[in-house]
Amino acid sequence: MAARAQPPPNPENDRPRFDGGAPWLDLLASRELSHGPEPIERLSSPVRLSQWLEAERLATTGPPVDEADLAAALALREALRRVTHAVLNGAVPDVGAIEEIHEHAHHGETLALRVRPTLERVAPLDTREALGRLARAALEDLTGPLAGELRACAAEDCRMVFRDPTGRRRWCDPTRCGTRTRVRSYRDRQRAQM
Ligand SMILES: [Zn+2]
Repeated sequence: MAARAQPPPNPENDRPRFDGGAPWLDLLASRELSHGPEPIERLSSPVRLSQWLEAERLATTGPPVDEADLAAALALREALRRVTHAVLNGAVPDVGAIEEIHEHAHHGETLALRVRPTLERVAPLDTREALGRLARAALEDLTGPLAGELRACAAEDCRMVFRDPTGRRRWCDPTRCGTRTRVRSYRDRQRAQM
């Protein structure tokens, strides 16, 4: 007897976010609600990481993403998270985390270009080179003129970092964290009145 078919997973429910304003910020956002009790991991397998890199136009020409690449990506992401929040809070960043980012930044340091007939960048040779590009972009943004445009979402469990040239955004996404936070504080008020 044939096994009953499972309903297909709804890709909308399982999609990573790409609204950080830069690929390295999207990398940070690939672990959602990372400051709360129930984080959501979007890079849960080498295949997921491969799809994510493709969506960020960082697909490689080399070997497929493996478990070691995934572990490297997650290590880079968490080092970036520590340093980024320290920068945003005006705190002293963790030296170990900076070293971790630096190590990644050394992979594929020269950006290969070609003209075909317009200027384009050559795809990274492997995942480590793709991670190197993310690490270098992050270090540039965290220490350069764009650092002042980085904001963290006001929702305490989210704290997603995004680029905000207007300086007026409070939430990573008002329909997501804004609504969620308003509903929660409304419920808290109701409870307090009971
Ligand atoms: Zn948020």
